Amino acid sequence: MKNLNILINELNLLSSIGPKQAQRLAIEFIKDKEENLKKLTKIINLLDNINFCNLCKTFYEGKECINCKLSNDFIYIVENLNDYFKIYDLYQNQTIKIFNLNFNHKSDYLNNNNLNNVILRLKDFLHQNEKILKISFLTPPSIESEIIIRVFKKELQEGFKERKFLFSKIKLGVPKDLNISYLNEDTMKYVFENQEEI
Ligand SMILES: [Zn+2]
Repeated sequence: MKNLNILINELNLLSSIGPKQAQRLAIEFIKDKEENLKKLTKIINLLDNINFCNLCKTFYEGKECINCKLSNDFIYIVENLNDYFKIYDLYQNQTIKIFNLNFNHKSDYLNNNNLNNVILRLKDFLHQNEKILKISFLTPPSIESEIIIRVFKKELQEGFKERKFLFSKIKLGVPKDLNISYLNEDTMKYVFENQEEI
């Protein structure tokens, strides 16, 4: 069936939905069509109202990115969206300004093209946020992370000679290579409260 095949293919193209899963989803959608059309309409409306910021790589609703507009002098650099959601869930009432590296694989740390693009994006972010003076790396302690911290620090010091940034990172004690998003609330608090100046 032409349309059914197209539907399965479209569902399959959605991120992380495999062909078998797409087939199953298509069947579910069709079996209870009326109810599912309502749900899909709701999803479409929600999608319409949520945006992804290309500068800080976090989500926002409305016209402007709230994270980019926060006038904090402190930013936390996180590895990826999992970490962003973790912080967001834990500190909903606080206004923590975040810069998402958007590193989803270990290789992202070592890919020069990728690193250059992130540095350019971070410089742009810092130019647009003149109040920022403190930069904290919430990347999980690892060799890769140490390398990028050193590279980023050097690039930012050279690129912003007039601004004396204060850099910090996660203090030792957090399990090596452990993703922030897997930490429990107490360890997360420890991470936030025990930053090491670099
Ligand atoms: Zn933003």
